Amino acid sequence: AALIAQIAAGEVIESPAAIVKELVENALDAGATSIDIRVLGDGFDEIQVRDNGTGIVAADLELAVTSFATSKISSLEDLLKARTMGFRGEALGSIASVSRLTIESRSKAEEHGSSIQVDEHGRQIAPAAIDAGTRVVVRDLFYNVPVRRDYYQNVAKTRKQLSEMFIALAVASPGVAFRYDNAIDEPVVLSRQAAVIGRMQGIWGEKIAQDVMPLYHEVNGIALEGYISRFYFYRTHASDVRFWVNRRPVVYKPLVMLLRNAYGELMPKGRFPFAALFLSLPETEVDVNVHPQKREVRFRDEKRVLSLLRDAFHRTISEGGG
Ligand code: ADP
Ligand code: MG
Repeated sequence: AALIAQIAAGEVIESPAAIVKELVENALDAGATSIDIRVLGDGFDEIQVRDNGTGIVAADLELAVTSFATSKISSLEDLLKARTMGFRGEALGSIASVSRLTIESRSKAEEHGSSIQVDEHGRQIAPAAIDAGTRVVVRDLFYNVPVRRDYYQNVAKTRKQLSEMFIALAVASPGVAFRYDNAIDEPVVLSRQAAVIGRMQGIWGEKIAQDVMPLYHEVNGIALEGYISRFYFYRTHASDVRFWVNRRPVVYKPLVMLLRNAYGELMPKGRFPFAALFLSLPETEVDVNVHPQKREVRFRDEKRVLSLLRDAFHRTISEGGG
């Protein structure tokens, strides 16, 4: 059963960034308005997420770390069946099976907080001194899966994945204050203010507001909004084009070329625009679940989306100031 749990966990928890994603999504699900993320040793030593959400009552702590991967799955067939049926409730259990996990929590209704620790010695419940909300601490990631740990030799890449994950979640979560501290760079602090441009300034600096132009384009219930760089604001990597569909961060391969084409001669060879773009359309038009972690998006009517993107870029660039 332990092996099966680790195989399942590997599917969900492929990197430190995946842990940040699961923990922050849990905090958002719990209605948090303030989320504090701390990362030590590129996420392998420790990832800590503190929120001021609903909390978990003491009696439910054990349930929270019990996922289908550790309690309900006894064969690989079960696992595959569960996955295609889209079962949820697997993240904390998966994280617990590849790390040393501590959750401290207190719901507003409780007088005292409590904690659960899950590691190679089992599960331990204890009282905890904590304000309302939840703190999840993930230590020693992949300590019991050395093969996986060896896979992450590329420190710069792991760190980049972590900050990209933070950006993906924070920019699209208006009304939630964030703090992101990786113990190396200056911590990023975002206030609760809702505007996307304010979030972008918190992440990329005040000046970003001058270097981008706003974009808004809507056709028949599909809307694209966000910011694209002014002509002089070139980037050296395509990774500075970020895309959310219905507020979920996704990868859409044709996007960078479409955008680059719209700049045409204005964009030097080997350079890329900066962009943060939000597409909103009915959920029935979207399929994001090609693979749980690969976030690649597909559209039911792709032609319509492509032409909307093309029109939006051309209009904004031909009207935009240099
Ligand atoms: P899922 O989010 O799919 O339910 P998880 O394994 O991520 O599965 O979490 C299990 C359960 O633990 C959640 O359903 C929720 O009840 C509880 N939980 C996890 N994180 C938090 C949090 N930060 N605040 C409140 N409850 C939480
Ligand atoms: Mg979850």
